Amino acid sequence: MRKILLLIFLLIFNFGFTQSNEIKITFIGNCGLHLTDGNTSIYVDFPYKSGAYGYMTYEDSVLDEIIESSTFIFTHQHNDHYSGKILRKVLRQKKGNKFTQWNTRSLKKWANEIPDFKIESFKTKHSFSIRHRSYLITWHGKKIFLSGDTEHSETIGEINGIDLAFVPYWLLTDAKEKEIDIDAKRFAIYHIAPVQIPSAKKNWGDSETIYPLVEQGDKIILKLNEK
Ligand SMILES: [Zn+2]
Repeated sequence: MRKILLLIFLLIFNFGFTQSNEIKITFIGNCGLHLTDGNTSIYVDFPYKSGAYGYMTYEDSVLDEIIESSTFIFTHQHNDHYSGKILRKVLRQKKGNKFTQWNTRSLKKWANEIPDFKIESFKTKHSFSIRHRSYLITWHGKKIFLSGDTEHSETIGEINGIDLAFVPYWLLTDAKEKEIDIDAKRFAIYHIAPVQIPSAKKNWGDSETIYPLVEQGDKIILKLNEK
């Protein structure tokens, strides 16, 4: 009897899952992303303080659209990545979990409960930040790397088979200077300041593997049956 119940559960679960069959990533601004497979909803480096340090702003409506009971993960807590004040308000209204660069152990614990999901965190250096973390998410077999603000490409250079790497342009410059090969199928360049948008379009506008995130609200879809 127990076996049958389990089978039924799996069928229902699989059915629910195949309905989306993709990981959808929405670019919010700076390093702010929303990731979902249709079941689990994750925000990375969001909410931040709109317009901090001359980086991207966003409307209040973006906060209203935050999905209930989401998980919020941060690489570090500079204002252009994190706002404690806004986050507290969001968590009060919409519930959810928060993991910063300081509590990666509880992040791992949380991740254990998510089907077909794994997150690894790496201590990476970033100027003027006491602790900074980069993350590698493996979700339904897809490897997504989130570098955050780090200036050093050694860590990402050691990871094999990345499907999609989120990097600031300075990480690519660093890798080039140090002759570090990054094993990623595709790159999304994030944290582009409004003043840098024209040159980002010029540099990578035609590239098939490097995608500059200049348009807030842009979506990247990872099809899960795609090899
Ligand atoms: Zn930053």
